[in-house]
Amino acid sequence: MEKPHLAIFPLSAGMGHFLPLAEFAKRLCEFHGFSITLIISRWLWTSRPPALLERLASSALDIRITEIPHITVDEDEPDMKIETSVSKFVLKAEPHIEEVLLQSSRSSSPISAFITDFFCTDLLDVTAKLKVPSYLFVPASASLVCLMLHLPKLVSEIKVSFKDADFDVEIPGLPLIPARDLLTPLQDRSNSAFKWVVHHASRFKEASGILINTFAELEEEAMKILGTPATPTIYPIGPLMVTESDAHDESRCLKWLDEQPPSSVLFVAFGSGAIFSRQQIIDLAIGLEASGHRFLWVIRGYKSGDSSSLETDISQLLPEGFQSRTWDRGFVLLNWAPQVRILSHPSTGGFLSHCGWNSTLESVSHGVPMIGWPLFAEQRMNKVILVKQIQVAIDLKMESTGFVRREEVERAVRELMEGEEGRKAREKMIELKDKAKIAMMVGGSTMKATASAAAGLGHRPSLNT
Ligand code: UDP
Repeated sequence: MEKPHLAIFPLSAGMGHFLPLAEFAKRLCEFHGFSITLIISRWLWTSRPPALLERLASSALDIRITEIPHITVDEDEPDMKIETSVSKFVLKAEPHIEEVLLQSSRSSSPISAFITDFFCTDLLDVTAKLKVPSYLFVPASASLVCLMLHLPKLVSEIKVSFKDADFDVEIPGLPLIPARDLLTPLQDRSNSAFKWVVHHASRFKEASGILINTFAELEEEAMKILGTPATPTIYPIGPLMVTESDAHDESRCLKWLDEQPPSSVLFVAFGSGAIFSRQQIIDLAIGLEASGHRFLWVIRGYKSGDSSSLETDISQLLPEGFQSRTWDRGFVLLNWAPQVRILSHPSTGGFLSHCGWNSTLESVSHGVPMIGWPLFAEQRMNKVILVKQIQVAIDLKMESTGFVRREEVERAVRELMEGEEGRKAREKMIELKDKAKIAMMVGGSTMKATASAAAGLGHRPSLNT
């Protein structure tokens, strides 16, 4: 029998969107016999393509990589946010994607379905025209999907900018969320990012299905809401994680971890985009030092005014004497760490994290309790869910500017590593780690959701040109 042929267009802006969908493509080929055309754009790739792409290209899997012509997006409005740039990029990408799909339709193996990122909903116009079933991929939580499905109603009821609202918002499936903790692009109604996010949210229902990088047992409340007939078919197909690392010189930090006692080290990392002010780095350092706990900290440059400086000398970033005072219990790494390998290491006992969804899934999958230090995007909302609903993270008090004081860092680290709340969060995480493992086994919820998504994705016949 001929293999079903799928086209996938992951969003290249942000590896957190690209990598899990590429990983899903790999699973569909390996375990469900798909042939895949992976459509890519180099837009916003500052350096070489991610190693995962090279591995896919040179693997024995039936994945063809097709690159669309280069696209530029002008910054033609004041304070233009990434959500606006992405949405404008997608409009420009439309004809190129259509061309790839048309070419495939003329091939001996026409496309049965199309998957794209949830910020690319305007591509649904192309696939509707070509009569190809389209699925949206959400590299975030099921809770975020609950918010997106509820958003058109929410913004018709609440007319003020969330940043000016001093109240909690009720969203089915979620705990009460302070309005200021909703997505960053939704905070200011006058910015076009707000309109774009609402626009994408309003198109969710047009998708044939929504694939979410989560597992059912992690977000039971949200999944109950998403299971109702009013929503598109939902497939919780996670955790999708890339286990191979792109980090250089990872051996030193892993060797250092090998020498530490079990569950004794706090891993401190804030994803791929975070850059702190110099003062914040100093307060974080002093708070870590005062906690008396072991730590492994990935540090980047610092922000000064509107510009960021990527420092190449760690000692220039840290408070004076910090390294000599903490040499016996701290390890500081520049730029990038082999995060999954660190979280899976038996010496790691906690994770001070920005609550990015990939980091959250990686922490859950390895049973590591967290301290939530959210920065942007949907991270504040993730933190509320992790602290209040799933109860696997310790809260951290931030000033209205987002600044976290050294005393608060010290308190939260102590609470996580030696306090009662930390103990409970650890217990809950270990339970979830086991549930994640079961979800991924034959008969588990993720495996079933993937099989049912695969059946839908492979089912429909060819393009109708
Ligand atoms: N990551 C890593 N090393 C680092 C920082 C991040 O390997 O030093 C990986 C991390 O494992 C995760 C991804 O980068 O898979 C970050 O994704 P997340 O959604 O947590 O945050 P984002 O970078 O999108 O803010």
